[in-house]
Amino acid sequence: MVNVRQAVILGAGLGCRLNGVLNGRPKGFLQFGRRPIIEESIAKLIRTGINDVIIVTGYCFEFYDRLAEKYPFVRTIQSPEFATTGSMMSLCMPAPWVQSDFLLLESDLIYEVRALQTLQSSARENCILLSGKTGSSDEVYVGVRDNRVVNMSKCRGAIEWLGGELVGISKITRALYQQMTSLAAEKCKQNRQYQYEDCLTDLSSTTAIHYHRLENLAWTEIDNEQHMNKALNEIYPLIQRRDSETVVSKHVERRVLLNPGPATTTDTVKYALVVDDICPREKEFGDLVEGIRQDLVRIVHGGDAYEAVLFASSGTGAVEACLSSVVPHDKSVLIINNGAYGKRMQQICDGYEIKHIDYDIDWGEPLECNAIERLLTQHRQDISHLALVHHETTVGILNELSTLSHLAERLGVEVIVDAMSSYAGIPIDIKDSGIHYLVASANKCIQGMAGLSFVICKTESLEKTKDIKPINLYFNLYQNYAYFSHKHEMQFTPPVQVFYALRQAINEYFLETEQGRAIRYATLYDVLEKGLQALGFRFLLETEYRAKLLTAIIEPKDTRYAFSEMHDYLYERGFTIYPGKGTLQNTFRIATIGALTEQDIVNFLVHLEAYLVEKEIRLRPQQREPIVGPRSSLGRTIVEQAV
Ligand SMILES: *Cc1c(COP(=O)(O)O)cnc(C)c1O
Repeated sequence: MVNVRQAVILGAGLGCRLNGVLNGRPKGFLQFGRRPIIEESIAKLIRTGINDVIIVTGYCFEFYDRLAEKYPFVRTIQSPEFATTGSMMSLCMPAPWVQSDFLLLESDLIYEVRALQTLQSSARENCILLSGKTGSSDEVYVGVRDNRVVNMSKCRGAIEWLGGELVGISKITRALYQQMTSLAAEKCKQNRQYQYEDCLTDLSSTTAIHYHRLENLAWTEIDNEQHMNKALNEIYPLIQRRDSETVVSKHVERRVLLNPGPATTTDTVKYALVVDDICPREKEFGDLVEGIRQDLVRIVHGGDAYEAVLFASSGTGAVEACLSSVVPHDKSVLIINNGAYGKRMQQICDGYEIKHIDYDIDWGEPLECNAIERLLTQHRQDISHLALVHHETTVGILNELSTLSHLAERLGVEVIVDAMSSYAGIPIDIKDSGIHYLVASANKCIQGMAGLSFVICKTESLEKTKDIKPINLYFNLYQNYAYFSHKHEMQFTPPVQVFYALRQAINEYFLETEQGRAIRYATLYDVLEKGLQALGFRFLLETEYRAKLLTAIIEPKDTRYAFSEMHDYLYERGFTIYPGKGTLQNTFRIATIGALTEQDIVNFLVHLEAYLVEKEIRLRPQQREPIVGPRSSLGRTIVEQAV
């Protein structure tokens, strides 16, 4: 259940029992504090993450239309027959604009913000908010059984098991809304006074409608003068006091991201984003950055010989920073291209007019070290740097890093490695491997948030770049390094909160240990590989070349297969997969990095199998083997349980 972003407010009603006080205003424009109650309600919705508010209007609709002019996130929809129809007819009006699950509210409510927060963080779909006894004399009682709503009535006697009193704030899924509107199309023919409460009751026997009871919630609807007085003297002041003490937090959903970054993060990393406001030029923040810089080097065992330089950018930014800062103007870089990220390095060099010599092969092909050696020797006078991708995420191939870096060392060439998707996922010893610049980002195997990238530089090499005339500004490696070294501040504004999340992610990495993480990732991969094989899928790469962090899978030839359909099916169930790119055979990709567990992969396989069964997609029909592994963790039994 993701956070609900849309709200529908029913505001068409006439408020005939309040004639005296309304003076030609709709009920939402009653006022107890600084603003009309509808505006207070909207402010509470915004506080809890709503960004699209639909108000169904009728009586004195101009008032609401003016509100929609004031607030860009409010739109009004008129219910032309509001005076003679029930609330369900009004609720049908915004159907074309209801794109998702939404919160349904009545316009004449005052309530604590806690009411919205409770529904937003509830895992229960279709959830109606109930309160304890109000004594308002206008109660709608809600009958419940087995944790579900069964009926609602103003007559207490009609209720067998009382769940509580209806507040008039509910969370409605899009699916339930569709059922409601189709049922209403029928019912309203006979009964123009059909109310949404009746509609929910009618559907409750076939669809699970849950409830959440807040015993002491301060709230009231304003339907008559008695409500008015009680609101003014008692309830409104109480709400104000309680709201000022409420910290609005929200439920954060975990998704299983099987795309190659940003990877799934732990809850603790997510929460680390929420920090006190702080100016990044304060010492406290400088200390945080310094600690992170040291630990980023420690992760690849750089000791005192390396420095980390951080950038506020995605990973590509740091690759660009490195290439555009370290290659002397009269020299060339040899770029290894066997995937999209090798190609990207060439594009960066083209942009900056940095001379480069290319080693291009088909994407997914393993490197031929001899051919690279020949190129290096042939252009020995010209080449200052060798640039390659460690784990080429395009296909999941692990390139020959140490062979090539040792070769480069012999020829006096410095090595730049894009280790974006292997850093912290595969142990790397930067010193032993003879790497001069290693580039990575915060949001892949280190399991932090996106928006931060870094280059881990051999200090000796970095110092030498001081005299290269800069062809960049923001991305100049040496300048950024020198600025931080002197000032203990970053040169440009950093993404402050992302740093705190990275701090937490690094701590969690050290807690898991280098070996622990590598083993967990290897296990995720193994479970995935075995499962996919059992389902009949084939892989693009030979086993020996696989990095085991990402798998490129050959797409089924079956005409019933379509990537986008499979993607959507899995996405709806909480799993995000990734399309392939640029290889000779069509593939899709599954990355097994991030804060994932074996059970996540097993669950994924179960849903994937269910998809294949549902679409009758057959892979290698004759060779289909029985599913391997323990029956309790993967296989038909589980599929049956899950469906
Ligand atoms: C993810 C990745 C990048 C950087 O991509 P961004 O979208 O800029 O973060 C670069 N190289 C490799 C090998 C990658 O996997």
